[in-house]
Amino acid sequence: MRYISTRGDAPILGFEDTMLTGLARDGGLYVPEDLPTLSRGDIAALAGLPYEEVAVRVMAPFVRDAFDEATFAGLVERAYAGFGHDARAPLKQLAPNHFLLELFHGPTLAFKDFAMQLIGQMFEHTLTKRGERVTIVGATSGDTGSAAMEAFRGLDAVDVFILYPHGRVSEVQRRQMTTPAEANVHALAIDGHFDDAQARVKDMFNHFDFRDRVRLAGVNSINFARVLAQVVYYFSAATALGAPHREVSFTVPTGNFGDIFAGHIAKRMGLPIRQLVVATNQNDILHRCLTTGEYRPGTVEPSISPSMDIQVSSNFERALHLAYGGDGRAIAQLMAELKEGGFTVSQGALQALQEVYASGRATEAETTAAIGSYLKRSGELLCPHTAVGTHVAEAHLGDVPMVTLATAHPAKFPDAVEAATGVRPALPPRMADLFDRDERITRVENDLAAVEAVIDARI
Ligand SMILES: *Cc1c(COP(=O)(O)O)cnc(C)c1O
Repeated sequence: MRYISTRGDAPILGFEDTMLTGLARDGGLYVPEDLPTLSRGDIAALAGLPYEEVAVRVMAPFVRDAFDEATFAGLVERAYAGFGHDARAPLKQLAPNHFLLELFHGPTLAFKDFAMQLIGQMFEHTLTKRGERVTIVGATSGDTGSAAMEAFRGLDAVDVFILYPHGRVSEVQRRQMTTPAEANVHALAIDGHFDDAQARVKDMFNHFDFRDRVRLAGVNSINFARVLAQVVYYFSAATALGAPHREVSFTVPTGNFGDIFAGHIAKRMGLPIRQLVVATNQNDILHRCLTTGEYRPGTVEPSISPSMDIQVSSNFERALHLAYGGDGRAIAQLMAELKEGGFTVSQGALQALQEVYASGRATEAETTAAIGSYLKRSGELLCPHTAVGTHVAEAHLGDVPMVTLATAHPAKFPDAVEAATGVRPALPPRMADLFDRDERITRVENDLAAVEAVIDARI
């Protein structure tokens, strides 16, 4: 399979190089040139299979030129072996026709583990085979960074540097990033917001001297391999609820648009998804854009769902690329306008987006109320991100099953959950000693040269 840039002006790559490269050299994001489809029979056959088997069948057409099937099955097996639940992504029922897809049973208790654990295995396999070494840089609003460090710590072929906004991640998130002792993983606390961290990472990729010298690689959700790994649980959940014989809808707590875009790919591959509902917190640029067509970033308002505190949502570019019928020049134009303050989606493209996506937002008070009410109504403790999802999902319940993605374990955000319910959620026993481990904190200015200097000094 060939991968092209959303902006149409970067080398066309195979899967291996797409995965190792991250951001395309024209500033765009890699996407498959054509999406494969699964037949109704192929989809029906997924029902009831182990998660790993579903993963191999769904991802095989995308990775075939990089891994033979037995090798890939081995990587998938190892990726999910450390999860704390045999089903990997279990479904629970919350209310009539409303289900919760629990994506927090991985080693760092958030859905990011699904992609990151697999990427760790794929990077190690590919780099070892090629005899190469890379420097991975990433920005995190909290969960990506810990998932990346967990997936890559101790590997030989990779150094990892994660930029997180100083003072704006939860203590559990920070400790998951600052306590790994392995010498190849580094957490850098940048002065600023997530968008600043993400901008500095993009700057490094656009600074070609540095990029080539340290062999920069990215594992942010701009990396197509991440999105791909997330396509799998849409198939496992929908087939458990009757697909392909019946439609299913999904509500996804959304920040950088990676998780929900994976649902869009699943739909294009033939999974009968009726609606993909984008759930935002008070940082609602995506909800506004999907409603009005105006994409104009404001300032980030910190919330109790920090992993969604985003104004520039990278993967939205991929959805725009589909909505504009693959017109790279149009996407490059929109992104140039974004640099000047914002853009307006064309009428036709907005209509195309609205055929796939619905949207809604939850205020801080609504999020807190949802955490309290679901504990009373169904006995489930929700993390604040998930609660944004269930709040928005309620406005979209109908005659097909609605699945809200539970993106993190409540114990990752204990203060918000306790404030809403009076119950302080406990960490699973396998990570109960997190608060006793030693931290290593490195502060860095919100400045490209300063960040590059730290990386140069450490590798
Ligand atoms: C990353 C994250 C999100 C947002 O996911 P995107 O793919 O960036 O849209 C939502 N909830 C949690 C808990 C997360 O870690």
